[in-house]
This record gives sequence, C-alpha cells and structure tokens, in this order.
Amino acid sequence: MTLQAIGIDIGGTYTKLAVVLEGGEIQHLESLPTAAREDPHDYLENLVQRIGLLVADNEITGIGLGAPGFLSKDRRSIRYNPNTPALVGIDFVNLLDRFNLPVWLEQDLNVPTVAEYHFGEFRGAPRLLTASIGTGLGAGFVVEGKVLDFAGSTIGDTGHIILEPDGPTCTAGCHGCGEALIATPGIERLADKYSQNKSHRIEAQEVISAVKQGQLWALEIIEQIGGWLGLWLASVSPIFLPSHVILCGGVAEAGEPLRKKAESRFHELSGPEYTQCVIALSHFGGRAGVIGAAAPFLNKLFLEE
Ligand SMILES: [Zn+2]
Repeated sequence: MTLQAIGIDIGGTYTKLAVVLEGGEIQHLESLPTAAREDPHDYLENLVQRIGLLVADNEITGIGLGAPGFLSKDRRSIRYNPNTPALVGIDFVNLLDRFNLPVWLEQDLNVPTVAEYHFGEFRGAPRLLTASIGTGLGAGFVVEGKVLDFAGSTIGDTGHIILEPDGPTCTAGCHGCGEALIATPGIERLADKYSQNKSHRIEAQEVISAVKQGQLWALEIIEQIGGWLGLWLASVSPIFLPSHVILCGGVAEAGEPLRKKAESRFHELSGPEYTQCVIALSHFGGRAGVIGAAAPFLNKLFLEE
C-alpha cells in the first residue's frame, strides 16, 4: 500500500494543507488564511476540521507541520515569531491529539531541506544545505539524513551573517547582513532606482517576473543579488562544508541568472576546499513546505524506528 501523510505548512499569510504520497507527489492541496495576529480560535477550529476530513478519507500515517520562528524545546509550539504572534505558545501536538496519529512539528527552514533530502533531485545527499530566500534569508542542513539543530530547531540565524559592514539594517537590527541585502527588502531597495519611471514602487515579485522575461534592468538587479548570495555562500560553506546547496523560496524563482552569478562569485572568493559543492535550484516551488512536513511519515525506515 502506498503511504499517505498530511503535510501542513504554516506561513505568515496562508496555511497550506496537503495529502502527500510516498513518492512525494501531492494528492490534494488546499489553503486557508493564517490567523497571524488576530484571535486564532476560528483558524485552529477550521484547521482541525479540514484535517479531520482528510483523515476520514485517506489512510494517513502521520501529520507533519512546518512552523515559523523558534520552536519550543519540547517541539510542540512556536516559542518566538514576530510575524505570527497569535500562534506563539499554541500546543499543536495537543491540538491534533484527537486523531490518534503521530504528529511532528518542524521549523520552517528545515522543511524544504527534508523535502529535498527525501524527494529532490539530489535525494540522499550526505551534507545537504537549503538556502531559503524570500522575505527573509535562512538555511536548513541535513547531515547523513539527520536535521542539524542546535539553536531553536535551527542551525542558527545564518541569514544575519554580515556581508556589507554599515550596510542597510534588517528587521533583526543587523547592519548589512545577508537578509538585508539578498531577501526581498534588498531587491526592492535596488529596484527603487528603476521606480522613477513607474507610478508605483517596484516589488520583488515584479523584478522576479521581469527576470524571467529577460528584461535587462531586472537582470542587473539579480546580478547584484547573486553576487551577494555568492559572498554569503562563501561565508557559510567553510562552517558546514555542504555537498549540495539547493536554492529555495520566492527569490530563487529568479532561476539560472541568480544561481549562475552566485556560483561564480562563490568560486571567485572561496578556496578550492570550500567550493566542492553542487549549487542547484529547487524544483518544488511553493510545495516544498507541505512535502517536507509530510516526509517523515512517508519513509518506511523512519516509521519503523
Ligand atoms: Zn540581519
């Protein structure tokens, strides 16, 4: 019988809910707005009800959730996350107890890493690092099949490595860190000089779309971002010595121009010992979260442990 698990990806705006099959295929996908700041009662009730319908209709082996922020030590709740304050402290394991299924809560930087490790192009890679580039910047790391966790279920806030001393400030208060330069606020800052001819401020998504159409102004921006990404990789790589680096998240949708520039800058800056790794783009797009959340319940070896 094909294994089936529920994967839930709690984002700051939407929560995605999927039934994922043994090979990582999505059988069913739906989403609901996340109660990030308002009273979460109705949201949680809605979520539980939808899970109940999926459990009734399928042979589910477990429920996995990817959650943002720092997780509690017992891995039942979000301990800290300024983007979803309404969900801090909610015991998700307790909430889903009623289904009599194993429940697993994972930090959201790690779920794409788990998805790539189990189902990606480089599945089973010995030292697999995913860089999630979107509103923020961060990384997850799977070494010999285990998610590395030594700070709030993360490998630390690698997005806040300083790349440009005294550069722009990020929301965490660092000056010129990777997140301030490479994530969407950094792209929008660079896009501002192209906004003068437009009636609105250019958003990062517009830049990414323009890159896909080959527009030069947007390619210039992504070259700059890719250069910083290469510098960031040159700083991260000697610590983790990844065998594979997979670029994920909305900004990685810029594709090859971003990947190529990051790779060439990384190779310019780092010594040969640190540039042995493959740098690739994720193929999962916005589905990595639900696939990675469900993954542990789709692996027979893991289930037997
Ligand atoms: Zn920062």
